[in-house]
Amino acid sequence: MVGLDQVLAARDRIDGDVLCTPVTLSAALSERAGGEVWLKLEHRQTTGAFKLRGATNAVAGLGEVAGVTTASTGNHGRALAHAARARGLRAVICMSRLVPANKVEAIRALGAEARIIGDSQDDAFVEAHCLARDEGFALIPPFDHADVIAGQGTLALEILDQVPQAAAIAVPLSGGGLLAGVAAAAKALRPDIRIIGISMERGAAMAASLAAGQPVEVAELPTLADSLGGGIGLGNRLTFPMVRDLMDDLILLTEDQIATGIRHLASEGHVVEGAAAVGAAAVLAGRLGGPFPLVLILSGANIDPAQHARLLEAA
Ligand SMILES: *Cc1c(COP(=O)(O)O)cnc(C)c1O
Repeated sequence: MVGLDQVLAARDRIDGDVLCTPVTLSAALSERAGGEVWLKLEHRQTTGAFKLRGATNAVAGLGEVAGVTTASTGNHGRALAHAARARGLRAVICMSRLVPANKVEAIRALGAEARIIGDSQDDAFVEAHCLARDEGFALIPPFDHADVIAGQGTLALEILDQVPQAAAIAVPLSGGGLLAGVAAAAKALRPDIRIIGISMERGAAMAASLAAGQPVEVAELPTLADSLGGGIGLGNRLTFPMVRDLMDDLILLTEDQIATGIRHLASEGHVVEGAAAVGAAAVLAGRLGGPFPLVLILSGANIDPAQHARLLEAA
């Protein structure tokens, strides 16, 4: 398990490499919810998502390595590429032939090698494991890693500095690295604070695993909250037990509700991806009514601009 000490150490290690992102009070959401609703604008983080915190902390904790690798093509892959470049380390992001060209380009633009391998993300994982086993690369997973969790937890330290009276934090939930880190830090400092996880109804692996009492696989379905898709790993060691023990509530949302959240945040000037809109979506759906002050984490900005435009037009 990851505790407050590791999160405090992570804050020292990543200081200067990640932004302290601002918070803002949302008048509209506060009125809708019936109490103060604050937005933590982490979608403005370098690389467009909080993942830079965990990746930077994990890279900082490495000894001599040939480089770093992962099979994530989303926000974690991007963050790891950035963190590696900042340390002058080689990064190899393994991905399948099916990954869209723009994602491949985005990884290359950050100075990382995009290694295209096989027809599925499973093949890409095997390649990342081979690099780790045979070539001295450090495999940095997107969530189930103590330094990654501790890095994500630094977000809670900022939130409690910025909104000291915060009574609850709503956290987008996928593999649980963000929720585990935020909850570990926030509850150590403020035992009464409530940590509310939010996922989409379509293919929420952590929700299914909690219901089953152990990590289980779920079919991955297309969702507006694409950063919340994917499994938690059948061999999950850290985030499953931490989320199980530290999360107070779990809310699952429909695609329509998530779309409403994206549109609402755009109306307040925040262009966010679906994963980052779940807190606002839950408030607007009447599913999240405090306790107050309530802080919503806007976790990432990386939505396809054409898709964002389509969502706004469809309103
Ligand atoms: C990764 C990610 C999440 C979920 O984080 P986990 O640690 O996997 O639970 C939420 N929002 C965005 C934008 C992400 O990139």
